[in-house]
Amino acid sequence: MRLAVLGTGYVGLVAGAGFADFGNDVCCVDIDADKVARLERGELPIYEPGLEPLLRRNVAEGRLTFTTDIARAVRGAEVAIIAVGTPSAHDGSADLSQVLAAAQAIGRALDGFAVIVTKSTVPVGATDRIKDALAASTQQPFAVASNPEFLKEGDAVNDFMKPDRVIIGTDDERARDRLRLLYGPFVRTNDRILFMDARSAELTKYAANAYLATRISFMNDVANLCERVGADVEMVRRGMGMDQRIGPKFLFPGIGYGGSCFPKDVKAAVATAREAGGSLEILEAVHRVNERQKALLAEKIIAHYGRDGGASLAGKTIALWGLAFKPGTDDTREAPSLTVIERLLAAGAKLRVHDPVANGSARRVFGERVEYFDHNYDAAAGAHGLALCTEWHQFRRPNFRRLKELLAEPVLFDGRNIWEPSEARALGFTYYGIGRR
Ligand code: NAD
Repeated sequence: MRLAVLGTGYVGLVAGAGFADFGNDVCCVDIDADKVARLERGELPIYEPGLEPLLRRNVAEGRLTFTTDIARAVRGAEVAIIAVGTPSAHDGSADLSQVLAAAQAIGRALDGFAVIVTKSTVPVGATDRIKDALAASTQQPFAVASNPEFLKEGDAVNDFMKPDRVIIGTDDERARDRLRLLYGPFVRTNDRILFMDARSAELTKYAANAYLATRISFMNDVANLCERVGADVEMVRRGMGMDQRIGPKFLFPGIGYGGSCFPKDVKAAVATAREAGGSLEILEAVHRVNERQKALLAEKIIAHYGRDGGASLAGKTIALWGLAFKPGTDDTREAPSLTVIERLLAAGAKLRVHDPVANGSARRVFGERVEYFDHNYDAAAGAHGLALCTEWHQFRRPNFRRLKELLAEPVLFDGRNIWEPSEARALGFTYYGIGRR
């Protein structure tokens, strides 16, 4: 099948490469000329495990091309996929301007029947607005469908190639038939394509992300209660997760959720409910808890250095491991580490930071306000404490003895509960976790 994919970000690039890998001819288009030029040179603009070989293979075999020319990409395409950004507007609702601009551009370029598919996360009713935008810009026949994407950064290729489910929201038989053919190879073992109306598809995506965010905020609330009552959230988490009705996933307390999806999707779901004259009260609390949680680690650090009327954080140096919003990605959008860093800088601390792949993304945010290190132990050298913000594998079993020698003061602020408090304390560290004893 001939496909056009609009937007070569985390979703568009993975989807474009994934569809090409099943033999489709895919043209990926982006308005960011720099990004397209890098892709044409074979450079990946993002870090995503497994994406590079997929991309290289499909480019080499001529099935995957890149352009800034939307008309070139759309002409002759049987399916055009919108995978552009839907950032938060000032009132928390999803800003649809990129999506509608993409729809109009597709409309202007259509030269025959095509199915226009929205993969971007869009609020309920957006598919109708996309249909209107297309109708206003073309005389050609077309069908629209909502096809929300559920991949997660850090494991995006696997998620895309082996989806738990494919949701297709449309009332158009032609769109249904074409998308069933397109997705057939992805769900060969058992049919996991779920057809529904567009509004239900749009809401499914928000409800899924909002529910996952709810589990995280719930556990963060429980962790904070653990600290007040002397319980250990690690035991509570395990005890809860063994219940098959609950399950163990997404029950990890920490310093809050971040990334380009959960924060904005929770806010957009709340805004959708408000616009519809209702409310999503649990989600409003989920957002508030998360904002509070993102500030928690910095508060613990500030309190530690100001304790017992002691010296403050001003002039102290803190080492920080992990900048990405989660392991496996270089994405720092809305990462809790950003809040931690801003608070510590405001309190007068100096920061020595390290992330295995996200130093570059963080530099675009902080410039030279913090010091970056390629190696985690180098960041720790001479610091008065070490804060952990992202639970990368390589941070889970550090050489604590080496760390103790390197740090000016042996203090650990474990924002993801990856270290064992008893082990750290036995080695002479002062240990702070989230809801740990
Ligand atoms: P992104 O910011 O990484 O990429 C979006 C790309 O679209 C950018 O490269 C931008 O230049 C391009 N673009 C904007 N307008 C365009 C236009 N008119 N024509 C062509 N290109 C255009 O975004 P992302 O993280 O890939 O997310 C895209 C959408 O998918 C969002 O709605 C997001 O909520 C949703 N989503 C993201 C993820 C994720 O893990 N990142 C997962 C599921 C769904």
